[in-house]
Order: sequence, then C-alpha cells, then structure tokens
Amino acid sequence: MDTIAVLGAGSGGAMTANLLRRKLDSDEAEVVVVDKSTEHFYQPSFYLIPFGYLEPDQSRDVDELLKPGVEFVHDAVTGVDPDEQTVALEAGEDLEYDYLVVATGHRLDPTATPGLLEAWQETDEVFPFYHYEAALELGEALEDFDGGTFLVTQPNTPIKCPGAPLKLTMLAEDYFRRQGIRDDVEVIMTRNAEHHFGVQPYRDKLYEIWNDRDIKFEENFSVEEIDPDAGVVRSADGEEISYDLYAPVTPQFGQEPITDNSPLTEGSDDGEYVTIDKHTCQHDEYDNVFALGDCENAPHSKTAAAARKQAHVVANNLPAVMNGRPMPKEYDGYAACPLLTEKGKALIAEFDYENSISAPVESKMNWIMDVNVLPSVYWDAWMKGYDPLP
Ligand SMILES: Cc1cc2nc3c(=O)[nH]c(=O)nc-3n(C[C@H](O)[C@H](O)[C@H](O)COP(=O)(O)OP(=O)(O)OC[C@H]3O[C@@H](n4cnc5c(N)ncnc54)[C@H](O)[C@@H]3O)c2cc1C
Repeated sequence: MDTIAVLGAGSGGAMTANLLRRKLDSDEAEVVVVDKSTEHFYQPSFYLIPFGYLEPDQSRDVDELLKPGVEFVHDAVTGVDPDEQTVALEAGEDLEYDYLVVATGHRLDPTATPGLLEAWQETDEVFPFYHYEAALELGEALEDFDGGTFLVTQPNTPIKCPGAPLKLTMLAEDYFRRQGIRDDVEVIMTRNAEHHFGVQPYRDKLYEIWNDRDIKFEENFSVEEIDPDAGVVRSADGEEISYDLYAPVTPQFGQEPITDNSPLTEGSDDGEYVTIDKHTCQHDEYDNVFALGDCENAPHSKTAAAARKQAHVVANNLPAVMNGRPMPKEYDGYAACPLLTEKGKALIAEFDYENSISAPVESKMNWIMDVNVLPSVYWDAWMKGYDPLP
C-alpha cells in the first residue's frame, strides 16, 4: 500500500487530504497529514473580526476537519529529502512516503521589517492584522480611536490575499464614517508598486471608489523600517508617514524547513517556493511530488480560492500518476477575491491566468455571499471535499 504524505492541514492540505481519502480505497493508499498546529483558522475572517462583522471564534480543530481514515500527525516538519522520499519531523521518527503533497503556506516574519515586532509588542498603535491575535487587538484599538492617521502598509515580499489590505482599508474608512469621526481621520494605504490592485477591470473600479471616498494610495512605497518611538514608517527613499493607528501587512516567505537548501524549491524566486507545473501542480523534477496553495511558484493569486481549485487538480492527478495514467486535470490559475468595499457591499474579483471573469460590480448580494454564506461553505463543503462546482 502506498503512503501519501500531505504537509500542512491548512486550506490546501486539508481539502486535498479529504478529497484523496474519498477517491482512493483504504487498501490502495494511506493518507497522512502533518501539521505543527492543531488549529486551522479561517484566515479571510482576519479583516472582518476587527469590525465585529464576524465573531472572533474562527478556527476548527484539525482533527475535526479531517475525514475518518486520514491520519493526523501533530508535529513540525524540519526537512524533506525528495531523493530518499522522507520527511524529517521535530518530535517523531522520519516519515517515509511514496507520494508527497506540500501545502505548507506562507511564513509570516514580523522581524523582517526593522521595528515591526517592537511596535506591535510595545505600543498600542500597531497591529499586523495577518496574525490572528493582532486582528483581535485591532478591534479593541478601533473602539478607542478617535482621529488621526490610519495607515495600512504592504511589505516588499509577495503576500497571500493581495486584496486583504485593500479590504481592511475600505472597511476602516467606512467604519470611521459610521462612528462619526471620518472628518478627523486620514486613511492611507501604501504598496511598493504602481497600482494598489493588479488586475483590471477591478483596479479602475477601486480607484473610482477610493477617489470618491478620499482614501489615499501611496504608490511605490517600499517599507524600510518602523520607528515606534516617533510613530512613523520610513521608506527606502527616505519618505516618512506618521501614523496614529497602523495595520501593517507582515513580510511573508516560504517555510524554511521546506525551502532551505532544498531541491524542491531550487530555481524559484529566492528559492522560496516549491517549483511546480502551473497547470498540473506536479513538481518539475519529482513526479511523485505535488504542491498547492501559497507555498508554490505558480503565478496565481495566493488565495484559499486558488488552493480550492488546485486541491481538485491534485486529487485527480496524483492517483493518475499512482496508476500510471496520464494526468486528467489542469489548473487554469483561477482565483477569487471578494473585495468588501463597505459594510453591506462587495465586488467579487474573479480571474485566471489569462482573463478576468466577473464584472466589477458592487452589490449587497456579494457581501451576503462572502460574509454570511462563504464561511459555512468553507468549513462544511470545501474543506470536507464536498464541492458541487469544483
Ligand atoms: C488576512 C487574510 C485574509 C485573507 N482573505 C482571503 C480571502 O478573502 N479569500 C481567499 O480565497 N483567501 C484569503 N486569504 C488567503 C488564504 O487564507 C490562503 O491563501 C490559504 O489559506 C492558503 O492555503 P495553504 O494551504 O497554502 O496555506 P495555509 O492555509 O496557511 O496552511 C498552511 C499550513 O501549513 C502548516 N505548516 C507550515 N509549516 C509547517 C511545518 N514546518 N510543519 C508542519 N506544518 C507546517 C501551518 O501550520 C498551516 O496549517 C487570506 C489570508 C489572510 C491572512
């Protein structure tokens, strides 16, 4: 019997493991999931929790999420040897595999921007909301905020959900209006790029909204350091922005045990990403290795929506490789980003490698879908491997 090791029980890993378990007979393969955490967070809630639009309790036990017949190993991966087909674990014995699925996501590193960690830990103004704890703390800080500059910055690394900082900015601006303090707040977001959102026609629609609502976008701003004593962010060009309340996006990287001196990531940008074929999700050197989600180098937007589509591709292609058949499925780069523009309104940006798919239209229905419907669909259908429209 073959062993399929799935590294990571986040969006991509949990879905793929459950789908594989449903597709493969128990005497054909054992499916073993390794994660260093016993909790799986619904990360899209992190920009909703601060405003009270979703309850803070947004995690499930990994044990609960995985189907019966999927083995869960609670341990940290410390290395992978794809030639020996082994995964080294921090506490347990090496895990031998026949097939490997890597879904270890992004590593958030608040120490990569000088001053960020100190500013978060030692002041009451800085909340890197990509961390669950900071999202909770930002909610408390918003309640006490009565005016000044509200700043959101993006790091120089790739980030998961590139729409999240825009959503937080727009929801905050709307929140200040609802609190009756909008005239006392300057709302600014920065990005080290010419535009705040990469994909058209959503970008132009967002510019329209931001201009109407006087939300400032500072382009080509490369965050160099945060000075918590002075309450300023400095750019590589020597510009400074002062803040009174600040929500930086933390710099993000691959997971070191997967990337350090690893043949799995050789050849990708800075060796940070597992190198795969962007359509089949198969590793470009090791036929028995697949990767999906935020940890690999396919040029899609790093979202759970993308991981969901890829999970179905991997769950079809891996069994085909096991049985010596051609791989039947191709991932087309699909990603979706619900852009919440204000309380009760959202536009959905949906696109693939080639084209934009949805119209750039704000509606209440989009908000209801994203905030009220999607979390249950995520937990009870997608994660469990039941997906009517894979
Ligand atoms: C603020 C925010 C808002 C977002 N909004 C959206 C949205 O609106 N829509 C959307 O589609 N996506 C959104 N995303 C992105 C989405 O959450 C990610 O793209 C998605 O979770 C990626 O799935 P993944 O499986 O690659 O990684 P993850 O879900 O992050 O899972 C990675 C798993 O690997 C485990 N792991 C890592 N290293 C090791 C190790 N060494 N040993 C063992 N286990 C390890 C981790 O513990 C984790 O459980 C958002 C993310 C954030 C932070």
